[in-house]
Amino acid sequence: MNNITSIFKEKHLKLTPQRIAVYKYLRSTKEHPSAEAIYNALQEDYPTMSLATVYKALKTLSEVGLIQELNVGEGNFRYDGSTHAHSHIKCSVCNRVDDVEGNVLGDLHAKAEEQTKYKILSSQVYFYGICEDCYSKEKDI
Ligand SMILES: [Zn+2]
Ligand SMILES: [Zn+2]
Repeated sequence: MNNITSIFKEKHLKLTPQRIAVYKYLRSTKEHPSAEAIYNALQEDYPTMSLATVYKALKTLSEVGLIQELNVGEGNFRYDGSTHAHSHIKCSVCNRVDDVEGNVLGDLHAKAEEQTKYKILSSQVYFYGICEDCYSKEKDI
C-alpha cells in the first residue's frame, strides 16, 4: 500500500479508491484484462464503481505510465500492470494474452534499424498463435 501511495504521489495523482483498486488489480494479475474484465472483477468489492469510472482510471494510469495499454487487434484495449519492456502473445482461439519475456527482439531491432536508419527507442510487438491448452484440446478432437 505504501508503495502505491508513493508512486501516486510521485506522479502527482490523486489517490482515489477507484484508481487504487484498478491499479492493484492490474498489478495482481498476469491476464492482461480488458476494461470490462477489470470492471467485472472489481464489482464484488466496489459495487458502486461504474464501467466509465474504470475506463477513466485506466486512462489516467496509462497516461502517467503506471500501466500499459495493449492493442492486440481487438476493438478495445487490454491492460498490463507491468510496464517493463516486454512483448505479448495472443491465443487466436481463447483470446488469452501472455507475456513474452527476455530479449527476443534484439535481432529484430538491429535489423529494423539497419533497414530504416532509425534509432529505435522502443517497440511493441504482438505475436499471435494457439496457446498450449487450446492446441492440446484441438489435437484431442
Ligand atoms: Zn488458447
Ligand atoms: Zn504483459
